[in-house]
Amino acid sequence: MTALPIPTATHVVSRDDALVLDQRDPLRARRDLFTIAEGLIYLDGNSLGALPKCVPERMRTVIEHEWGVGLIRSWNGAGWYTAPERVGATIAQLVGSAGDEITVCDSTSVNLYKVLVAAMRMRPGRSTIVSELGSFPTNAYITTEAAKLMGAKVVFADPAEVETAITDAGSDLAAVQLTEVNFRTAQRYDMATVTKHSHDVGGLTIWDLCHSAGAFSVNLNDCDADFAVGCTYKYLNGGPGSPAFVFVARRHLGQFQQPIPGWHGHAQPFAFAQDFQPSDGISQLLSGTSPQLSLLALESALTAFDGIDMAEVEAKSQSLTELFITLVENRLAGFGFELASPRHASDRGSHVSFAHEQGYAIVQALIARGVVGDFRAPDLLRFGFAPLYVRHVDVFDAVEILVDIMQSEEWKKPDYHVRHAVT
Ligand SMILES: *Cc1c(COP(=O)(O)O)cnc(C)c1O
Repeated sequence: MTALPIPTATHVVSRDDALVLDQRDPLRARRDLFTIAEGLIYLDGNSLGALPKCVPERMRTVIEHEWGVGLIRSWNGAGWYTAPERVGATIAQLVGSAGDEITVCDSTSVNLYKVLVAAMRMRPGRSTIVSELGSFPTNAYITTEAAKLMGAKVVFADPAEVETAITDAGSDLAAVQLTEVNFRTAQRYDMATVTKHSHDVGGLTIWDLCHSAGAFSVNLNDCDADFAVGCTYKYLNGGPGSPAFVFVARRHLGQFQQPIPGWHGHAQPFAFAQDFQPSDGISQLLSGTSPQLSLLALESALTAFDGIDMAEVEAKSQSLTELFITLVENRLAGFGFELASPRHASDRGSHVSFAHEQGYAIVQALIARGVVGDFRAPDLLRFGFAPLYVRHVDVFDAVEILVDIMQSEEWKKPDYHVRHAVT
């Protein structure tokens, strides 16, 4: 008996083909861990992850019992005080670091500032930061400001020119600050190669993992990364504004000094000492008190990753994005969509962008039909494929709806041309 050919994403022609891929998906049971409304195709988990079903009940306990009854006693009794390190150790398993190299606090923006200044202080006499053009705005703003404070300059290189910029900076390179996956195009750097190049000229690296953590395999220590930051409300599903994670390689612990020393980063916070004595562990990255409710919601949300193999997550991410690109290009040829993401799966993250001059209105029309993606100015339709809860059949159905919107010219409705504050 000959085995049936195993379909892959690029061979899907029918809805049934997509369903076969879902049946073979080793992660298929994970979707049940999330609340996703019937009929909704959610392709924006790269911006705000879906709600894990366990979170509301956990929050009820935290609020009514730990806060309502336990009050101040819960800092010890309910383990609130140790939550940043505990949650950090959980995230560490997903990004290839040791448990004591990550903590969770503040926002990505604030943590980026802390590690940039810390890195520059570790490279006195060097005054160049290499970063990239077209990165997420906060990264550019924070990097510029941190450099100004430290008397350094930032070279914003085109992504294709980053390696050249590192070589050119040479012995003046203090650090490289890059986002592993570009928020618009999903272009992904080779973290190991860029890190090595930076180290070869004596610089440090600061990786932003906002569009990486929870979406595919990240191996901070295998890459020899120095510092990293990342959001927890995207692929890690921590909820709106959940605190960010920050990584420092163990070899640098006790060797760096971040610029927002607060009492939680003190070696002995409850000595209430007059002078700051930094902790020599990862807790030095903490400044003030954590947003405890968000942090505990995040901790609960992360159970959706329990026992997961990130290689399987990456394989599914690639299969979903591959399927989407193939279907859009096959079914919508001639409608003016142009792929704005890398064609090779290993060169991209878990979202796909297409450029279209009517991108904004088309995204609004899709949202009205229950397909939630987003728009990034000036002309990108962006679709995120969170491997834990997006199915191949969702990708298939989303493209069918897009075909319908284009053929019927539904996107021309005036309502879809009204600009909202959050796109
Ligand atoms: C989402 C994202 C941020 C968000 O930073 P916040 O401080 O959490 O608002 C920062 N950088 C990148 C690259 C992002 O994708």
